[in-house]
Amino acid sequence: MSEWILEYDGFDPEQERLREALCTLGNGYFATRGAAAEATASTVHYPATYLAGGFNRLITDIAGRPIVNEDLVNFPNWLHLTFKPEGGEWFNLLAVEILSYRQELHLKNGLLNRDIRFRDKQGNIFTLSTRRLVHMADPHLAAMETAISSENWSGKMRIKSELDGSVINAGVDRYKQLNSKHLETLNLGKAGDDSVYLVVRTVQSRIEMAQAARTRMFLNGKRMTPEIHSYEEKEVVGQELEFDLAKGKTFKVEKIVSLYTCRDAAISECSLAAQEAVSRAGRFTELLDSHTRAWHSLWRRYDVEVRAKDQAQLVLRLHIFHLLQTISPHTIGLDVGVPARGLHGEAYRGHIFWDEMFMFFFYSLRIPEVTRSLLLYRYRRLDAARAGAKEAGYEGAMYPWQSGSDGSEETQKVHLNPISGRWIDDHSRLQRHVNIAIVYNVWQYYQASGDMEFLVYYGAEMMLEIARFWASIATYNKKTKRYEIKGVMGPDEYHEKYPNSEKGGLNNNAYTNVMAVWVLERAIEVLDLLDEERRSELFEELNLKKEEIQRWKDITCKMTVPFHGDGIISQFEGYDQLEEFDWDRYRHKYGDIERLDRILEAENDSANRYKVSKQADVLMLFYLFSAEELGELLVHLGYRFEYDTIPSNVEYYLRRTSHGSSLSRLVNSWVLARSDRPGAWPLFIELLRSDINDIQHGTTPEGIHTGAMAGTVDLIQRCFTGIETRGDVLWLNPRLPKGLNSLTLNIHYREHLLGLHVTRTSARISTEPSTRKSIRIGITGEIHELNAGEVREFQL
Ligand code: BGC
Repeated sequence: MSEWILEYDGFDPEQERLREALCTLGNGYFATRGAAAEATASTVHYPATYLAGGFNRLITDIAGRPIVNEDLVNFPNWLHLTFKPEGGEWFNLLAVEILSYRQELHLKNGLLNRDIRFRDKQGNIFTLSTRRLVHMADPHLAAMETAISSENWSGKMRIKSELDGSVINAGVDRYKQLNSKHLETLNLGKAGDDSVYLVVRTVQSRIEMAQAARTRMFLNGKRMTPEIHSYEEKEVVGQELEFDLAKGKTFKVEKIVSLYTCRDAAISECSLAAQEAVSRAGRFTELLDSHTRAWHSLWRRYDVEVRAKDQAQLVLRLHIFHLLQTISPHTIGLDVGVPARGLHGEAYRGHIFWDEMFMFFFYSLRIPEVTRSLLLYRYRRLDAARAGAKEAGYEGAMYPWQSGSDGSEETQKVHLNPISGRWIDDHSRLQRHVNIAIVYNVWQYYQASGDMEFLVYYGAEMMLEIARFWASIATYNKKTKRYEIKGVMGPDEYHEKYPNSEKGGLNNNAYTNVMAVWVLERAIEVLDLLDEERRSELFEELNLKKEEIQRWKDITCKMTVPFHGDGIISQFEGYDQLEEFDWDRYRHKYGDIERLDRILEAENDSANRYKVSKQADVLMLFYLFSAEELGELLVHLGYRFEYDTIPSNVEYYLRRTSHGSSLSRLVNSWVLARSDRPGAWPLFIELLRSDINDIQHGTTPEGIHTGAMAGTVDLIQRCFTGIETRGDVLWLNPRLPKGLNSLTLNIHYREHLLGLHVTRTSARISTEPSTRKSIRIGITGEIHELNAGEVREFQL
């Protein structure tokens, strides 16, 4: 098996939507699922194209309530291309006898190939070979080459090539009852003999998108002159090309497509830009050439080479590939964040969550500029976050749990339990901890890049305003003489409220409280980092008072952290009073119990009543912090913290977690790897299987899990190497788990490109020659100065 090619033999209708998600091609500007070109949306296929930041809102009446939903829009299907021999039918994979079928996704150069040999109802045998790309050098282009031949048939052949604007958002069954027609067609027609164009607009956000398609045919490399018939329907534009095909001959159809929107820079108007782009574009092979070069230069930076078993190399590369198709250097300057499910499907409607916290190291340690751009997405929504805080009765800035176009709260108010068929109140917006993730991301970006300008002009302001929010949501309890945070949810979405309570929210979620303290500490630290002038500017602009900072300091010593039993950190206050859950009985009854919340609700019960977690919550603390860092925080808060309680905390919560979120396995692998790095491999392999094997049974077809994908790369790059960026030093503490023999990767640190090669016994670090200042590397307890162009080897 190649370590660069995802391969499928045979067609499997049941697996098709999963393959479509996993074979999505994109470039950070737009992405298209790996659906067959001839397919239209059905229970088997779901062709879809998504634009980064391409959202639209629609209102649906649900049980007498108007519900507004903002979705990542499925834009016109540019893929559509099919053929029909005279007297036969338009090609339909489900209606022919498949003689052979092979699909390959080439990760090295972003190419999706499909080779099929089939017999149609008339007994004619055809072979069909397609190659497809979404251009990584010119983000506005995509191209498809289809070679068709017949073994035993000659006659008139017709090709149909379309741009289909009639698509709706229909990728997620659970959303079926919601309005889904996001597009209206503005204009369509012919653009020269061999091209057509289509202009659509989202009905509410008014994003105009133009697509143009050029379809040409070739025989033995020479352009053919088929009869061309262009046609226009209400929302579809296309061309039919007719010609004589002789038995044994192979002809090629090239469909070159361009895609522009009214939001693009350096254009006059998107329809004009799209039409010009297809008329200027070269042939498929020329585009493939420049596309391949762009991918190669990305891989030079982003590849992680491992010597390991269990398909690990291929899956890691698949993850890197999809992360780069969701967010790439083309993202820089776009006003977008990272959707939790990529540009690969419609689950979570393309929204941006706290998941970015698990992803930014992947981007920051390669091209930090990309992370900067993603952080600016948040900065531009700081005013919306201020409005969010104000509306909820708080100060500062409170970012929404789910973010889309304008930084409003996009979390649904009700959601459908597909098991019971009931619409249920959704309190998940109370996950205010997203406001911890944003500060964490700003801080880590600064640590990795040293980008002081960003910190001074954008990061600090976000950090201070978020700190203000935490200080204002915290209340002082005179009895306990401690601060408390009430009415929020932690990361574990099974606990939305106390059993029998009508009101959403819980008190003193340990993760939130400890992290709020960490945020306040960083906000105080950032004030010290600023020069006098900028500090006074910010105090004035934000009307920040000395007394506020005093209160922040007070909170950092007096925040409540609930404990129960023998040093177990309670997930929230009152957690210990919940009932234990009968895991065995439910496993026996249902088999798959990852989504216990849905199962219990359908039984008229509630996960809120039990000690069950969907995902890591308390354990997030052990994921983000080393034992020493967490110990310091807790001791500063006046709690006794014995290091030997860590394994019991880990064990306690692992036993009570169903892993209903892909992030959960990631956090758990990491936490376990901290205490038992050599033994971490089996868990890592399990985590690697999340998307490629769709271990959550049906979630990956609705979109990849970008957090878990980035998390696997991060486990390799930071956990197994022990990389930490702390106090102007890049610390390394490599220890490879069993199963991983060596790893090689490049990381970007403080303007240097570092090469890292780690084996079980040694670590080699090299820097590219440059005129940059030396950097400091900490390894095996000692700090070393490393100049540009140096290579150092350390024995471990
Ligand atoms: C998880 C959240 C996550 C979201 C998006 C949910 O299932 O519980 O933690 O942010 O998915 O990935």
